[in-house]
Amino acid sequence: MSAIPVFGAFAGSAKLLPIMDESAEAVPGKDYFKELGIRTFINAAGTYTFMTGSLMRDEVMGAINYASKEYVLLDELQDKVGARIAKLLRCEYATVTSGAAAAMTLGAAGVLTGMDEKKVAQLPFLEGTDMKREVIIQKAHDIAYAHALKNVGLQIVYVESREELEKAITDKTGLMYFLNANNFEGKVQVEEFLKIAQAHNIPTMIDCAADVPPVENLFKYTEMGYDLVCFSGGKGIRGPQSAGLLLGRKKYIEAGRLSAPPRGNTIGRGLKVNKEEILGMLVALETYLAIDHAKEWKMWEAQIKLISDAVKTVSGVETKVVVPPVANHIPTLHISWDPKKVPATAAEIREKLRSGNPSIEVADGANQHTFNVTTWMLVPGQEKIVATQLKKVLTEKALSENHG
Ligand SMILES: *Cc1c(COP(=O)(O)O)cnc(C)c1O
Repeated sequence: MSAIPVFGAFAGSAKLLPIMDESAEAVPGKDYFKELGIRTFINAAGTYTFMTGSLMRDEVMGAINYASKEYVLLDELQDKVGARIAKLLRCEYATVTSGAAAAMTLGAAGVLTGMDEKKVAQLPFLEGTDMKREVIIQKAHDIAYAHALKNVGLQIVYVESREELEKAITDKTGLMYFLNANNFEGKVQVEEFLKIAQAHNIPTMIDCAADVPPVENLFKYTEMGYDLVCFSGGKGIRGPQSAGLLLGRKKYIEAGRLSAPPRGNTIGRGLKVNKEEILGMLVALETYLAIDHAKEWKMWEAQIKLISDAVKTVSGVETKVVVPPVANHIPTLHISWDPKKVPATAAEIREKLRSGNPSIEVADGANQHTFNVTTWMLVPGQEKIVATQLKKVLTEKALSENHG
């Protein structure tokens, strides 16, 4: 975890950049987090923002270091990187944002303002303008991140059934938002939702923030016909945590960029993404597209099995492997225990794991006697430490019962 940048794919260009030498690397012997008294940990939980997301691959850090040595024009970089991403993902247009939430805000802004700079300056105050003012969302798709749509001034209209959805569409409707993760929870599913919107000429946005793997999802929803598709950069793609992708129709994304930096009198000035993250995002995407996804999946399954086999040796502990259908679609180990045999709450066990050496974070389970483990954010090899520590902590708690 020393995170010393290796120049990876960019090593060949090092000759052209005399300042890109050893001095560009972290100062040897400096342990910044330790000096600051900050706990680092093994992430057996997943891609959580509060745990700082994912670890960037060496190729990405190479690109970030490369970009940090030169000036470029921000718009030119966005134009060219966007064109490259659109080509890679076979969609009409693309731009790098500061995250999926920023993609939502800028996409919605583009839909409302078009190329009208006066309207861009008016956001988020829609009252008294001729901009649309409502976004339709299914109740089952209500999520805290929908705040990113409210940021542009849109009001959310919640609907439940197909009938309610069709009735809610009026001349005030600017956008219909679909949360892909909750596809199966809503009454109207992903293709039908799109068809209804298209029949009424309403722009559509799909939030796919955490929806790779599978890699195909990067292509699927623009191909299906969604106007705006939002992905996080720092989840499964392992790009910068402060980056994301907005994919889809040129007319909306180009317009959305009017609300983004370098422009200042805009709703999106605070959603800045600079050259390092833009290039890092592109290289993360290229690297992600090129990896052997089947092999990676097999590795995750083997890691999960190793951890499962270890904890199951503790009397009273049970495990189950679950793969969520859409978002965070990765092998996930549910570890649960009989409180009569292991008299401890998940909070107590997780505190033990946290204060261990090395410290380990796992994810919330469904109740007080379970927690979840994923291995996709581990550095390969850490699964052995996780298996050993989990078994140790569960055994300690189990023994305390046997000893009265
Ligand atoms: C993570 C997430 C977001 C926010 O993504 P950022 O890239 O952190 O801005 C939005 N929607 C969903 C469904 C998410 O999982």
